[in-house]
Amino acid sequence: MDGLLNELRGAVGAEQVLAGIDLDARYLGDWMTAAPAGTPLAVVRPKTSAEVSAVMKLCHAARVPVVPQGGLTGLAGGAVPVPGCVALSLERMSQIDEIDPAAATLSAHAGTPLQTIQEAAHAAGFLFPLDLGARGSCRIGGNLSTNAGGNRVLRYGMTRDLVLGLEVVLADGTVLTHMNKMLKNNTGYDLKQLFIGSEGTLGVITRVVLRLYPQPRSTCTALCAVDDYAAVLRLLHHVKSSLGGTLSAFEMMWPDFYECAIVGLPHLGEPLARGQGGYVLIEAMGTDQTSDQARFEAVLSEAIEMGCVRDAVVAQNETDARALWKVRDASGEFHRTFWPHVGFDVSIPTGQLGDFVAACKARLTERWPEVETVFFGHVGDANVHIAVRVGRDVQPETAIEQTVYGLVGEWQGSISAEHGIGLLKRPYLRHSRQPAELALMRQIKQALDPLGILNPGKVL
Ligand code: FAD
Ligand code: ZN
Repeated sequence: MDGLLNELRGAVGAEQVLAGIDLDARYLGDWMTAAPAGTPLAVVRPKTSAEVSAVMKLCHAARVPVVPQGGLTGLAGGAVPVPGCVALSLERMSQIDEIDPAAATLSAHAGTPLQTIQEAAHAAGFLFPLDLGARGSCRIGGNLSTNAGGNRVLRYGMTRDLVLGLEVVLADGTVLTHMNKMLKNNTGYDLKQLFIGSEGTLGVITRVVLRLYPQPRSTCTALCAVDDYAAVLRLLHHVKSSLGGTLSAFEMMWPDFYECAIVGLPHLGEPLARGQGGYVLIEAMGTDQTSDQARFEAVLSEAIEMGCVRDAVVAQNETDARALWKVRDASGEFHRTFWPHVGFDVSIPTGQLGDFVAACKARLTERWPEVETVFFGHVGDANVHIAVRVGRDVQPETAIEQTVYGLVGEWQGSISAEHGIGLLKRPYLRHSRQPAELALMRQIKQALDPLGILNPGKVL
């Protein structure tokens, strides 16, 4: 392998090939998965698409696996090195090439941090709507590869919906360039969609063309208490039809979440009384703060009259809005306030989500009477996050996963709504995909990567 290491040094520069004692631990695990099963041969840090292509050609010829890495904030172990691989870090490919105001597009290299893209769009008078807690660390190539979701999917869609073009390097080093800026382009198969959400198993994304939106000029936010899930469904219907396209978030917190957030983080205060049937954070983004706020408050008053909202706090300014979002964002603190736990990111059609949550709780309690759970999520997108813990010591992780994923399968839901399959959910993919679908996925993988060198052992 010394020969390959030397060739890699020739391709990207000696100082950009980290091997042996130079291997930095930060490339060895992602947010969820501390360390790989074995050590990578090297971490390679290219600067250009041409260098990525050269690295892929060399690894292809040597039949050495390649694991693409963005910001390593993934929650499914997708970017974790496999033994003897080249970990291909895109972090040096951080560059915005162009913002095209007429096309409303932003073109960037795959290693650009999401926050840098958001800020560049903002400075140019636009909004890049993808937003998640890891914004400062995750990279746009990683966002595309995981088809990341976040809080504004309801209005702007998943990452997939925000991409117009991309450039990708295939397993054998071929560069596929499709830096398309046009919304309409029906020229055969939409190849870019194959690579979005494929978690680095089909190609290495090197550049992207993103869709920008007008910057909203108003934001209205409220936290509502509701009696039960039936009321949540009526509320969702009401705000969708009354606020039209301005509804940008509809986040539900079940009572166990609210309790855990308020008790675990006393600085949050208690914006609404504990012990209600559920809590919903609603956000709308529009064009005029004064008139939009009046309309927003009127819509909520109607909801109270209709009996689907029991109580509500409406933010009067940005500080209030931030305080309400902090309650929902308490999930980011669960590694302190609700730890250890086993986490899930599943989806079930919105109409059945309430019954699913009750069934899930019942199934877990039947098996572990002392179980504690927390349910919350992007109900408007049919997505619920679940945290489960049994006692305070080492968790019966596999048994908990089998219980929850088994139930998701019975309800014909998805075992991963937004975080992807990676390494950690691979054993459970069959709960959400038919054998014929899995067979077709394997055929696609075989066609694009016949030697199986791209991120082996992930997804399929
Ligand atoms: P990595 O972790 O480095 O990689 C992820 C996967 O993509 C791996 O399989 C890797 O091989 C592949 N990959 C990376 N770059 C490339 C590339 N250029 N070409 C090909 N393959 C590549 N996700 C959501 O969907 N919604 C959320 O709200 C959300 N919130 C989060 C909050 C926090 C605090 C954290 C830590 C994570 C959150 N995530 C969320 C997870 C989310 O998937 C990642 O944060 C992000 O999309 C991954 O980007 P990354 O650059 O860190 O990718
Ligand atoms: Zn989420």
